[in-house]
Amino acid sequence: MKCKRCGAEIIRIGTMGGPVVCWASPITYWRVRGKHARELYTPNGETVHGDMTGDLQKAVGIGYLPHTCHQLPVIFKGRDSWSRPVYEDPSGRLLVDVDPRKDRKPDICTKQGNTFDGEPCDPVEGDFDFIPCRDTW
Ligand SMILES: [Zn+2]
Repeated sequence: MKCKRCGAEIIRIGTMGGPVVCWASPITYWRVRGKHARELYTPNGETVHGDMTGDLQKAVGIGYLPHTCHQLPVIFKGRDSWSRPVYEDPSGRLLVDVDPRKDRKPDICTKQGNTFDGEPCDPVEGDFDFIPCRDTW
């Protein structure tokens, strides 16, 4: 279903505390309670905490991130051949921060052909929620 307020693809998950609106795309998580751990909901409504990046072999399952309108969660995937940080949004779109200097605002663009080492393509405006955090130079 789509969020009535912002149009994003969402799902409703029934939890002990009532229904929670989450981003529709399942996210792999690792059961690590580090400082960047986030709260996720499993498909059957449990709340779990964990990191959203790590060694795939060690991932413990999938969960759903709570949806906040007009904020786009982007998960860090690594650095491209130009050493620029690459992120993935809930729709599977790859995004690159072409100005990852710590004292600058992120300058986010799509990737040509949605490939990891593709050239930056179109600029994307938004309120980004960098997971686990913004990767900077
Ligand atoms: Zn929304």
